[in-house]
Amino acid sequence: MSHHVIDVRSDTVSLPTAEMRQAMFVADVGDDVYGEDVTVNALEEKAAKLLGKEAGLFVPSGTMGNLLACMVHCHRRGSEAIVGDLSHVYLYEQGGAAQLAGIQLATLPNKTDGTFCLEALRRKVRLEDDHEPITSLVIVENTHNICGGKVISLEWLDKLAALINGDKQMRPYGQRIALHMDGARIFNAAVALQVPVARIARDFDSVNFCLSKGLSAPVGSVLVGSKTFIRQARRLRKALGGGMRQAGIIAAAGIVALDTIVPILHKDHERTRRIAEAIHNAKSPNVTVDLATVQTNILLIRLPNPQYSASKFAERCATVKPEELAAGLCKELGIVLKVSARDWEFARIVLYHQISDADVELAIKKFNYVIREIDGQLAG
Ligand SMILES: *Cc1c(COP(=O)(O)O)cnc(C)c1O
Repeated sequence: MSHHVIDVRSDTVSLPTAEMRQAMFVADVGDDVYGEDVTVNALEEKAAKLLGKEAGLFVPSGTMGNLLACMVHCHRRGSEAIVGDLSHVYLYEQGGAAQLAGIQLATLPNKTDGTFCLEALRRKVRLEDDHEPITSLVIVENTHNICGGKVISLEWLDKLAALINGDKQMRPYGQRIALHMDGARIFNAAVALQVPVARIARDFDSVNFCLSKGLSAPVGSVLVGSKTFIRQARRLRKALGGGMRQAGIIAAAGIVALDTIVPILHKDHERTRRIAEAIHNAKSPNVTVDLATVQTNILLIRLPNPQYSASKFAERCATVKPEELAAGLCKELGIVLKVSARDWEFARIVLYHQISDADVELAIKKFNYVIREIDGQLAG
């Protein structure tokens, strides 16, 4: 029995488009470690220009881009980087900064909007004291994944920059604390705010963004910053095993992603909102969403009833029961809806351009069906 599968566990499962595959097929390539891959060079220049920085570096993953930023900004031994306690760098990169680069990560509690308290940040910065590490870097995630795709406000970013640039305490041992943005989904933030992506990146010394999330390219991220910063990052990329030779084959897809997917990212946001509204309108006490927090392509679905966990919900959405087939949600096919169970209380869906309007309608039917079933079970 074949089913209609809608996979919204993450935007990382997005697939390269036909146009990307065509560009990959015909890409001019060379040895990128020698700087001779014209397609990689074109992607790096394009990315740097878009983000308003001097230079770019194509890296295999966002994890490597963030790690390189940590390594360059925290080059002094005994450095500390300050990150949000719900950040990807802190939660999901294996503590690579500590594991591989000897950098201590210090956390500030993330607020639900993805920011942290700037006064707490000011206090967290270390003294110039032989007992203490050197605060060298602050990292901001935008959009904020675990906080539900939250867009960090420009006002807050401006306040952060003013604090870092304005205060003498922010220059330990004569070097200003650097600002790095984990902008895995920075284009989603730019679309939501309707500002150029360079405005968001303006006060950051470096930014990493992913081509392989909602932008749907098969592989890679781009790290951007000053020429000096990128020169150092390029050198260290080799040490991490990220020198990729004829990488133009994959960079070609990244260029197409910037040209063709960025202009339609807003559709993912609209579709995410449609699903959120449908779940909201189901008025279930057991499966809820907070409409006010839906800003981009990520939706957190809350399972507040301890008798029905998020992982149980995810399992149910991916299952087709015979009575569902009889109900004919999708003609004679069952709908397998893959969502991720983030923790006990939250399931998460993330949209990307292959999830069409038709998929959204079917996902809504499936959610409604499952929600009615759960409400019936828990009421009985
Ligand atoms: C996916 C992601 C990364 C890392 O990207 P990979 O390419 O999977 O290593 C970093 N930060 C955030 C917020 C992400 O969502």
